[in-house]
Amino acid sequence: MSEKPDAFKIAQQQFLAVADRLKLSPAIKAFLSEPEALHVFTVPFVSDKGDTRVITGIRAQHSFARGPAKGGLRFHPDVTIDEVKALSMWMTWKCAVVNIPYGGAKGGLIVDYKALSDAEKERLTRSYARRLAPIIGPDLDIPAPDVNTGNEEMAWIANEYANVVGHPEPAVITGKPVEYGGSLGRGSATGRGLAFCVERYFENTVGSVKGITVAVQGFGNAGQYAARILSGMGANVVAVSDSGSAVYNAKGISVGAAIEHKVKTGVVEGIPGKKLPKDKLLELEVDLLVPAALENAITGDNVSKIKARLIAEAANGPLTPEADAYFAKHGVTVIPDVLANAGGVTVSYFEWVQNRQRLYWTETEVNTRLREIMRRALDEVQREAAEHKVNWRTAAYMLAIGRVVKALQSSQGF
Ligand code: NAD
Repeated sequence: MSEKPDAFKIAQQQFLAVADRLKLSPAIKAFLSEPEALHVFTVPFVSDKGDTRVITGIRAQHSFARGPAKGGLRFHPDVTIDEVKALSMWMTWKCAVVNIPYGGAKGGLIVDYKALSDAEKERLTRSYARRLAPIIGPDLDIPAPDVNTGNEEMAWIANEYANVVGHPEPAVITGKPVEYGGSLGRGSATGRGLAFCVERYFENTVGSVKGITVAVQGFGNAGQYAARILSGMGANVVAVSDSGSAVYNAKGISVGAAIEHKVKTGVVEGIPGKKLPKDKLLELEVDLLVPAALENAITGDNVSKIKARLIAEAANGPLTPEADAYFAKHGVTVIPDVLANAGGVTVSYFEWVQNRQRLYWTETEVNTRLREIMRRALDEVQREAAEHKVNWRTAAYMLAIGRVVKALQSSQGF
């Protein structure tokens, strides 16, 4: 098994640091330091060869304080129980920052999912869904896609759940195909939500996002949509990168053509502009840097070379605590992941609302409501940071944890 930083310890430390600042009671600290429920299953499935394999399946439900638990399903050989617990805690804070009525959860299968045949994938996912069925539900816990899972897996799980409960129940899971109860606008939601945050940030500070220069690290789902939507708002995307290389064009990259190129060739190399080593993108002098690739992209080793004036985290955890501290000291604002990439879970919430109402919205309605939520959340985090003289990550955590605590106090007498 590969070595990984202990994500759950980090999540607990982050929580406890803010809990101390908020002067929370020992009981609340103990309660929120662990998931409310942790399920570990044996998940059998029949391989193409006809033998039965048994996989470990996990679902951590960190909090039900503000509503049903919500969070994705990750199918990967490196998944661990501790990682799933950490991710479930982060989902609680993310849902609370944007103030959608959910707690946090996360699930996973410890399996080399990509190595399975399509038929094996379906049998395994359906078997996991039968294990999950008693502990999920539209009022209890609503899974969604994460690493290596997408709308196909979500459709299998919804169908299996329907078989168990005896009636269709699309609101049990989000990220479904549009023709099976999915929401319009879900694919672009993370990048779009980030762009709405950035738009609002510049309105609140210098006046407008128009003309700002942008570098996007990681030109995948989140990065492409963020670039496209920011460019539509009048920003100038000057650099993009992927796991192979980076491209810089001072005059501005034509984002639509760049996406077409990336989809066709699989790489950013060849987009008109100057080719750079991929990590050089991080060091460009730009108004906005969007890390949209993997965790730990900016660390103590490279942070002093970063010249961007604003960072908006599309990826989860792209900055180490050392990098975070450096930016705080040097007055660089970081719009943290729990806010900047919360557009995805927000549109998941819209999918659930539409499923429950049996009333479907146009893409314009989805995007309009998303914009309202992201702008309000940005304003609230900015205000909290100014009031308490803390960086935006701490402010977002203070706001989120405060909301969860208030729900616990008013309902359970903590
Ligand atoms: P993706 O796989 O579609 O895209 C990731 C991109 O990053 C790829 O183009 C890859 O080539 C590139 N990349 C990998 N290593 C790189 C490196 N060292 N330098 C530059 N580029 C590199 O993934 P995604 O869905 O866009 O997710 C990106 C990040 O955003 C992840 O951290 C994910 O957890 C987070 N996120 C995504 C969503 C969503 O809805 N897609 C929601 C919340 C958070």
